[in-house]
Amino acid sequence: MIKARGFKGGGVSVDHRVPFKSGPIENAFLPMNAVVVLRETSLSVEPFPVVSVGQEVMEGQLLARSAGPGSTNVHSPIPGIVRRIRATVTPEGYESNSILVSLEGSFSVLGKKPERYLWKSLNKADIAHIVQEKGIVRVSSGEPLSEILSERSSRPGFVLVVNALEMDPYRRTEEELLSIRPEDVIDGCAIAARVARPARIVLAVDARLSPEIEGRLKGIIEASELEMSIMSFSRRHPQDMPRQIAESLEIVDQSALFILEPSTLVALHDAVVANKPHIEQYVYVGGGAIKSPAILKARIGAPIGDLIEECGGLVGRPDAIVLGGPFRGRAVADLDASVTRTTQAVLALTSEETKPAPERPCVRCGDCVAVCPEGLDPYSMLKLLRAGRGEAAIAAGLDRCTSCGACAYACRSRIPLVRDFRAARASEALR
Ligand code: SF4
Ligand code: SF4
Repeated sequence: MIKARGFKGGGVSVDHRVPFKSGPIENAFLPMNAVVVLRETSLSVEPFPVVSVGQEVMEGQLLARSAGPGSTNVHSPIPGIVRRIRATVTPEGYESNSILVSLEGSFSVLGKKPERYLWKSLNKADIAHIVQEKGIVRVSSGEPLSEILSERSSRPGFVLVVNALEMDPYRRTEEELLSIRPEDVIDGCAIAARVARPARIVLAVDARLSPEIEGRLKGIIEASELEMSIMSFSRRHPQDMPRQIAESLEIVDQSALFILEPSTLVALHDAVVANKPHIEQYVYVGGGAIKSPAILKARIGAPIGDLIEECGGLVGRPDAIVLGGPFRGRAVADLDASVTRTTQAVLALTSEETKPAPERPCVRCGDCVAVCPEGLDPYSMLKLLRAGRGEAAIAAGLDRCTSCGACAYACRSRIPLVRDFRAARASEALR
C-alpha cells in the first residue's frame, strides 16, 4: 500500500473515530409508506411522473422518467399504490415533487434469487444504457451516473479514484462496503472503467484499514486484472474532498480526477449485474442518542424515523438530528424526512456531542483562517455578507468555499460560518 502525502494547508485532525462494530449489513424493514423525492439535489432537473394517483405499481417499476440532462429515472422502492404526487420542500430547503407509494401487493425483487448477468460481453453503449435506465446516481453528489460516465469517456487521461475515505468521525459505510462487498466494489469499478476508460485507478483508503481487508482487496484486484493501486491517507478533515484528494495525488488540474465512492460502485454493479434499479441506499444510523448504531440497507423513500426505530430507537432526547456528518451535514426537524439516493448518514446527537452554546462575538483568534483548506479568511467573508456586501464576499473567495465546515468546527465563538456561506451561495441575490 502506498502512503499518500496528504494536502498542505489547513484542515482539522480527526484522529478520533466513534467506535463501530463491523458486521453484516441488515436490510431495513420495508416502509409502509415510501415518499420518493424526484429531485435529488437543488441543481437536478426534475423527471416527469409516469404514474397517476390510485395506480398500482410493482417494486422497481418506473415512477418518473428522466427529463434529459441533469435528470434520472426514478423507480418505486416498494410494491403498492400511488397515493399522492405533490410538491414538497426537501430537508435541504429546495422544492421537488415527491410520489407517495403505500405498501401493498407482492414483491418482484425481494425474496427472489438475484439474477446475475455476465456484463463482460456488454459494450460501452449497452452499459451506459442500463445505468441510465436503472436511474443510478453518484451517491456523493446526486448526479446521474450515466451522464458523468459518458462525459468522462470523452476526456481521456483522467484518474479514477475509488474514494473509501470518510473523515467524519461517525461514518463507516464506504469502508464497511470494502469489507462486506469487496468483490462487488471492484467489479463496479471495472464496469465504470469499461465505459469511462481512465488512465489509472486509485483506491483511496484510510491509513487504519485493517491488513486483513487490505490483503483481500489486493487479491480481488489482482484477479480482476484492473490496473489499480491502493493508497492510504491519514485522518485529517477534509481529506475526503475532491481538491484535497487531487492535491494529495499531485494532480494539478482537478478536472483530471473522477471520484466514485464504493456505495455508488455497488449500485452500478447491482444495476448491470443484477438488473436492479437504484431503490436502496446504505445509510449509517448513529450518534450518541441512538441505542444501537448500525449501517442499514434502506429503501429509498423510507422515513428516517423508521431507521432510527430499527436501531433500537432514541436514548433520551437528542439535541440534533443531522443528515450527513457533523462537519458538512444538515440538521432536520422532521423524522418523516425520507431517505434519498444521496442519504449517507442519519445522526441523532446528544448535547454532549453538539455542545450547544449561543453565538458570541468574534475574538479575532484566527483559528478559522488557520484551518481553512482553501486559504480563505472565513470571518472577513462573513462580515462582508452580514454587511450586505455579497459581491465583495464573492471577490474575497466565497465561491471557492467548499462548505467543508472546518472553520465553523474550529470557531470558539460558535459563529455558524458554514451555514451562512451555504445560505448566501444558494440565495438568488448572489446568483
Ligand atoms: S467551509 Fe469554506 S471557509 Fe470554512 S473552512 Fe471550509 S472552505 Fe474554508
Ligand atoms: S474562529 Fe471564530 S472567533 Fe476566531 S476569528 Fe474565526 S470567526 Fe472569529
